[in-house]
Amino acid sequence: MNRHLMIAAAVAVVCSAAQAAEPAAMLPASNPFAKASTLPFGYPMFDQIKNEDYAPAFAEGMRINAAEIEAIANNPQPATFDNTIVALEKSGQLLSRVSSVFGNLSGANTNDSFKALERELSPKLAAHSDAIRLNEKLYARIKSLYDKRDKLHLDAEAKYLLQRYHTDFVRAGARLSAADKEKLKSMNGQLANLQTAFAQNVQEEANASALVVDTRAELAGMSDAAIDAAAAAAKARGLDGKFVIPVVNTTGQANLAVLTNRAVRERLMAASLERGSHGGQFDNREVVLKLVRLRAEKAALLGYATYADYALEDQTAHDAQAVNRMLAEFARPAVANAKKEGAEIQQVIDREQGGFQLAAQDWSFYSDKVRAERFNFDQNQLRPYFELNNVLTKGVFFAANKVYGLTFKERKDLPVYHPDVRVFDVYDANGKQLAIFLADFYARSNKRGGAWMNAYVSQSKLMGTHPVVANHLNIPKPKDGEATLLTYDELRTLFHEFGHALHGMFSDVTYPRFSGTRVPRDFVEFPSQVNEMWSVWPEVLANYATHYQTGAAMPKELLDKVIASKKFNEGFRTTEYLAASILDQKWHQLGVAQIPSDVLGFEADALKSAGIDYAPVPPRYRTTYFSHTFAGGYTAGYYGYLWSEKLDADTVNWFNEQGGMLRKNGDWFRKMLLSRGGTMDAMQMYRKFRGRDATVEPLLERRGLTEK
Ligand SMILES: [Zn+2]
Repeated sequence: MNRHLMIAAAVAVVCSAAQAAEPAAMLPASNPFAKASTLPFGYPMFDQIKNEDYAPAFAEGMRINAAEIEAIANNPQPATFDNTIVALEKSGQLLSRVSSVFGNLSGANTNDSFKALERELSPKLAAHSDAIRLNEKLYARIKSLYDKRDKLHLDAEAKYLLQRYHTDFVRAGARLSAADKEKLKSMNGQLANLQTAFAQNVQEEANASALVVDTRAELAGMSDAAIDAAAAAAKARGLDGKFVIPVVNTTGQANLAVLTNRAVRERLMAASLERGSHGGQFDNREVVLKLVRLRAEKAALLGYATYADYALEDQTAHDAQAVNRMLAEFARPAVANAKKEGAEIQQVIDREQGGFQLAAQDWSFYSDKVRAERFNFDQNQLRPYFELNNVLTKGVFFAANKVYGLTFKERKDLPVYHPDVRVFDVYDANGKQLAIFLADFYARSNKRGGAWMNAYVSQSKLMGTHPVVANHLNIPKPKDGEATLLTYDELRTLFHEFGHALHGMFSDVTYPRFSGTRVPRDFVEFPSQVNEMWSVWPEVLANYATHYQTGAAMPKELLDKVIASKKFNEGFRTTEYLAASILDQKWHQLGVAQIPSDVLGFEADALKSAGIDYAPVPPRYRTTYFSHTFAGGYTAGYYGYLWSEKLDADTVNWFNEQGGMLRKNGDWFRKMLLSRGGTMDAMQMYRKFRGRDATVEPLLERRGLTEK
């Protein structure tokens, strides 16, 4: 299930990390990026990195990388796999080191200096990437190897790597004329600027959209602790005596489920929905129009009718028709399902003599009531059993131990960039250390919304590197001394992100290009979604779901109710997700001549024509705060969550058929899939793991779309 989860986009293009032969950097020795980190596994030296270290490290990293590329391209020896492809894989180490830290901290722990540098760097990095991918001599070497790939006696991974390089270069424009290459470079620079502007506007606008409330009474329904936090947030903004409710990045806002005052709910929902499209300095409408136009122009230059055609060709879905077909197949039953849920909600409103028609701001408040009635439990009853540390160590880690034999040991000696970050050594079943795992779970005003995984160091046999990976969530931090009690959604997100972490940690590939999560976008969510299955696995639940004060096990009836209610509200969840996915596609299935001038008008038409314009269920993200698609990363790719969920649901069935939570099953999944990164065609990999292609029935069943 999609819950605004993202993998931090890598900033660098060509390479990864490591300590093989590396040109000496002309950086002062005091710059912590100058040399490979001396900490275990190349763990970043967070305690030594200062804001002013990044810019020179990037500059020097790009300079060295450019020199390396020139040397490879101008090598007087004829091209060989080693002197060209392997040499490319080994290049760019300094740039990769600084990019991985900067790229992640600019999302997890940003500041004004980061933001300024981000704006300055994004066009430079785009130009740097273009200088490599559009280097004619370099492409000629790659092509000469590609043309005789069957005669080079390469192993399967090496051969696939050569094919990937060829495809990557062609898609980046290597076959364009010199004049068109110049055009493309200019477009890429502008695109990088616009994407950065979009992302920064979203973050600033979220802070600016926080709802200010005058009285405590208006916050009825929120817990005392949450109201105190709202008062503290107001004080921090110089609004003593008032209350501030932050706005999170999705359209839906958690507080809408509890606020009893409908007018306040309405204001909160309005603040969320109008982000980026109501004027003011963070309005994103112009940025969106420029972005879609430029992307369409770029696609046209590269020979595609639309940007979606360009983007999808390299995904497992392969083309826009396949994606449209899937979205359309799900849209009709999902909306029908949501309307059925809406009718049930309206009954509750009418019975309570509310005297109003269900609107978007009412959905979660009343749907929780329907749930409480139907299943006789309140979501909040669960939270005392979902204490964060219990869930992490006795749930997430416990499951990884049972399924894969992993063990975890927290260490406090390594530096962190924020005191809330925790660090764990991860050991394989044979006792050998596999990876280092960082857990950064709490929300901060300088952290972007959502949840994501990233790799500070990626595994590669070529480079001799082992994984250092991190998970980031946005769990509200309780007051000092109070326990962190998760919602059911946060709990699932924790397992989900750890699924990405496993994909990174189990990576067992030779080449950096294929490490861990470097797989097609519409495939990458699959392993993480599979890991969610353990969150409600009876043996795992019994182990972690104990009351944080009394230690009592979660009552079985409560648990049964949770499981029985799994399909509850799926109409809403599927519809809001599909609406966003459809927007993402519609914006990117436009030809250059079809770009509209009215963002909100286009959005409304797009939803209407897809039959997904059901006002009580707005898109999970509206256009002007849809970072997945407009800040890059998931452009024309947001459908990928549902696409990969087909594989997920099919795999969950496989585990069940094979006896469930057994090491032999985990080991097979790891061997055939989680360890293989991007080393082969993803669908072929799936087939080898499963023995056949995935079927869609398990997904329809899960989403409650099989019942008419
Ligand atoms: Zn994910």
